Amino acid sequence: MSASETASDTPGFCVNARRLIARHEHMNRVGATPAGGVHRLALSAEDNQARFDLVGWANERGFPCAIDPAGNLFITRSGRDADAAPVMSGSHTDSQPYAGRFDGMSGVLAAFEALEALDDAGIETRRPITAVVWTGEEGGARFPVGTIGSMAFAGRRSLADTLALTDPGGVSVGAALQTTFEVLRAVPRCPLGMPVHAFVELHIEQGPLLEQAGIPVGVVTDIQGMRRFIVEVVGEEAHSGTSPRRMRKDAFKDAIAIVGDLQDACSDPPDIVRFTVGRFEVHPNAPSVVPGRVRFVIDLRHPDIAELDRLTELIARRCLQHNGPCRAHFRELTRIEPLRFEPRMPNLVEEAAKALAIPSMRILSGANHDTSHLASLCPVTMIFIPCERGISHNEAENVANENLVAGARVLTQVLVRLAQE
Ligand SMILES: [Zn+2]
Repeated sequence: MSASETASDTPGFCVNARRLIARHEHMNRVGATPAGGVHRLALSAEDNQARFDLVGWANERGFPCAIDPAGNLFITRSGRDADAAPVMSGSHTDSQPYAGRFDGMSGVLAAFEALEALDDAGIETRRPITAVVWTGEEGGARFPVGTIGSMAFAGRRSLADTLALTDPGGVSVGAALQTTFEVLRAVPRCPLGMPVHAFVELHIEQGPLLEQAGIPVGVVTDIQGMRRFIVEVVGEEAHSGTSPRRMRKDAFKDAIAIVGDLQDACSDPPDIVRFTVGRFEVHPNAPSVVPGRVRFVIDLRHPDIAELDRLTELIARRCLQHNGPCRAHFRELTRIEPLRFEPRMPNLVEEAAKALAIPSMRILSGANHDTSHLASLCPVTMIFIPCERGISHNEAENVANENLVAGARVLTQVLVRLAQE
């Protein structure tokens, strides 16, 4: 068998490891922080710079680019059949504040490497393959919500509502996008939404399981569901020096009692339930005032919808039946149902890893991703690669070069399989 036959049988072999790592090293400098991470908030100058550089690389290769009204950026390698819906792959270039270099970027650069590798090897596909950068996956760090671009693309939030989302400085997504469009003015505009044959996202695991197992590729089968609730505990403000404690309606005291009770009620021995209170606001937040009002947000995640329903009911009941001097109000903010991928998609990833002799294991995604929105349009799956000690959303986030390469090889293999359909 000749080298070229091997390459076309297993396209993953043509991935250029040195180029992929060099691309990462370049992007590591875009929004670099002194502690070795990146600070590349959604639609910031740094986020725009990363996209600009990517477009530059695409232009060098002659890959056509396009940007839609939500700022999603598409880079395409044509297929034989120009009318066939593309196979898409990609992730995000934006980051959480002072966060890691690989969350999002590894998926963008793996998809771009797939296009370049196929081009180098002269592998023709029936369908076009498109590398995509979704706008503001980490948008929640700046705007009120995340996965901004993929949600608009999938029609899960209207474009008008998307553009009207506003950051704490009063800058809307629409206004921020004007700068992005200006930076990328040479990139042709395309309408929002298009048919997609299939979507595959490579992402870091953001958890410790692959590393613990010593396995470089995670075959993602599900994304667990997420619900968010806001609880408001209302008491009465009073002077902290003069008000006797037995007469107080201390909203902080009741709120921590409720949180403690819910922490216990939601803990399970197999440690599958994810219960977090990550936001806690005390009013008026003054040392000499007994707090009159406390608001906190519960983030609840689980792969099973029945369990999410049961816990939602339990949390609501315990809040509303809270037996203290203060009253607790409960409201659901967000609901993302658990998602199980069409089995043939993770099967393709598993087969691709096998063909390349790269060990893989099945895994659940604990975090939400752009992929969940794409799932309403087409078959989807994800490829996870290990990150050191599972650390993510942190400047210390790190991924071994060989894992970046292994993931990109499996991704390339899968994309070609799908693009020949
Ligand atoms: Zn991410």
